[in-house]
Amino acid sequence: TPLDELIASHAVEIPDFPEPGVVFRDLTPVFADGPAFRRTVEGLAAPSLGDPRAAALAPSGTGGTGYDVVVGVEARGFLLAAAVALDAGVGVVPVRKAGKLPRERLSADYTLEYGTATLEVHTDSITPGQRVLLVDDVLATGGTLAASVQLVEALGGVVVAVSVVIELVDLGGRQRLAPHAVHALWTT
Ligand code: IMP
Repeated sequence: TPLDELIASHAVEIPDFPEPGVVFRDLTPVFADGPAFRRTVEGLAAPSLGDPRAAALAPSGTGGTGYDVVVGVEARGFLLAAAVALDAGVGVVPVRKAGKLPRERLSADYTLEYGTATLEVHTDSITPGQRVLLVDDVLATGGTLAASVQLVEALGGVVVAVSVVIELVDLGGRQRLAPHAVHALWTT
């Protein structure tokens, strides 16, 4: 089964969640299925061989231009980022919601549909020049990942790509993250 079909067949669409008019894509059944989760993680770690960005996304140990660390966004991004990092043989760094990280941290505010939110990262978790693969479950408007890119870059990190399981194309997240490469396993 092609990976996009595998994800599409396990993801569940929930109408009117978390509020009326929104269709929520629930990926927890993808994570709960062993083979589907494995293929999803491998897909996030490196795009298909036909993708021209494959070399750029290969983990640095494998001879590609690569990435040195995976950054995951709270909370579903954590489930994926740790597995991707293990698969790639690199470390994992959390971008967290405000108030969770205990040491010196950098914050970025971003707008949600209603109101604002804040993401944070430990200032010593990324070193200048380190190449970063940024991972989350769903790319919608791109606000969450744009704030995460801002944090990584403020610490001198180089975002080589953003990997997501689902890209909701109509919401324009890819454009918002440009010129950063967005690697989506399922575009809908
Ligand atoms: P954005 O900031 O608008 O791109 O929204 C992306 C963030 O909201 C990600 O951290 C997602 O986990 C979450 N999100 C948005 N839409 C969905 C969805 O349909 N299913 C699951 N998570 C979603």
